[in-house]
Formats: sequence, C-alpha cells, structure tokens
Amino acid sequence: MGYSKSPHLRNAATLNRTYTLYVTAMQDPAQTFDSIAPILTVAVLLVMILWESVSPCFAFFRHRGKERFLHGIVNFALAIINAVVVGLVFITAWKWAVDFSSTRDFGLLRLFEWPHWTEAVIAILLLDCWTYWWHRINHVVPFFWRFHRVHHSDTRMDVTTANRFHLGEIALSSLLRIPLLMLLGTELWHLALYELILFPIVQFHHSNIRLPDGIDRVFRLFFASPAMHKVHHSDQVAETNSNYTSLLSIWDRIFRSFRMRKDLESIRLGLEEFRKDEQQQFIPLLLNPARNPKRSKK
Ligand SMILES: [Zn+2]
Repeated sequence: MGYSKSPHLRNAATLNRTYTLYVTAMQDPAQTFDSIAPILTVAVLLVMILWESVSPCFAFFRHRGKERFLHGIVNFALAIINAVVVGLVFITAWKWAVDFSSTRDFGLLRLFEWPHWTEAVIAILLLDCWTYWWHRINHVVPFFWRFHRVHHSDTRMDVTTANRFHLGEIALSSLLRIPLLMLLGTELWHLALYELILFPIVQFHHSNIRLPDGIDRVFRLFFASPAMHKVHHSDQVAETNSNYTSLLSIWDRIFRSFRMRKDLESIRLGLEEFRKDEQQQFIPLLLNPARNPKRSKK
C-alpha cells in the first residue's frame, strides 16, 4: 500500500538532493560552469535578438530582415572560427598554465591563504582589470588596432557584434593569457566563472537596445552599460578611446576613461574609413588587418 511522505520529509529529501548537487558541482566547478555555458549562450542571444526586434535603439534593420540576418551571419562566422581555434589550441594551453602554477605553488594569488570565494572574487577583479588594459592597449598600439578595428568597423552594432573579432586579436589575447594565468596563480574555475559572468554582460552592452536613462545610470555604476558602450563604438576618435571596460565600470572611473553623452541616437557607429558595404563582408573583414587606410582624425 502506498503512503505519502510528510512535507517535512519531502523538504529534507529536496534539501539533501540540492546539497548533493552543490557538492558535486563544487568538486569540479570549472566543468560545471563550462556545462552551463552553452545553455547560457543560446538563452542570452535569443533574449537579446528578441529585445532588439521589439524595441531597437537604432532603426538600421527596420523592414530589412534579410540584411539583419546576413549581417549576423558574417559576425557569427568570424566568431565560429575563433571558437574552434580557442577550443582546439588555447583551452589546453590555459589548463597547462594553471597546472604549472598550481604544481609549483606559484603566482600572486598563492602568496596568501584566502577563503575559497574571496580568492575567486580577487581573481575575477584581476582578470577584469587585465581585460580593461588589454582592450586599451588595442586602441593605442597601431599593430593591435589593425585587428581590433574589425570589431569597431561594424556600422550596425547589435548583439552579433559582441562576437565579431578578428582571429588575430583572439589569438594574441589568448596567447597573453598563458603567462597571465601563470603569474596570477588562478584556478581554472576562476577563469570559467569569469567567462560565465562576462559573456551575458558583453552581449547585453553591444545590443541594439536602449535602457531608460535612470536604469542605465544605475547599471553603469557597476557594469559596462549599453549607453556606455555605444559611446565606445562612436566614430569620433575621442569617444572610441573611452569606456574600455568589458565587465566592471569601476576601471573606466579609476583610470579616467569614463565618458558619456546624452544624444545616444545621434552617435554614428563604426569607423569612417570602413563604411562601405563591401568592407563589411566576411573575406574583406578577414583581410582588414592587412589594409592600410589612414585612421580618421574626427
Ligand atoms: Zn574597443
């Protein structure tokens, strides 16, 4: 004869199951975060594409569904090449770098005994500070700018632009990450958690959306907001060379690169020297770093 458990027992069983899941997740958090990543990627992209369809900030794709689709395909094609190379080459290299510092007890974070999660927060702050400076260096050093301008040359910035990077830029930043991970002494799960938090924020602030001013203001107290990042993608050099942060807005405030403007809708996105349609296609974008146009002085 069947009997039903008391609510008390049921709650205890649920708690027990949740705890077991938590313990399993914490035994290999890097793998857990990695397994969440694909679901998060699809969910974030779908939500942002829908949001951009319902309430776009700029009307460059209004009644131009086919153009919007082709624009997204080109950007995703670049992203897929990058994902394959990172997956085949760099993830193994990063694992090796983390193993290197862990077996030798080497690296900044290993100088002190931190509680588990405090160490993770410090690691994320350090990784994000590096991401800020690496981005800033990309704007200042002409050789690096050749690759980074592929991202900036998008005249119709939307969520797909967040994934439009030249393989050269990704390869350089992935290579530099190897000594960085060794010097910091981070764990692999710190990196996986950082990427997991970074991804939705980066997709969000590249999207063709506009938050109400008050909400954007509160959001950018902590993170790079859509308004902040539109200024970064302006074709005015002084604005392009501002708001470098990818996750936490504090870096732009500390290092004095924070910049805002009120008339967001009058920003001209993209780069003056790469405004033509044919420069926005897949092959021209791959060849873009080899081109030698004068950088606009606007
Ligand atoms: Zn940039």
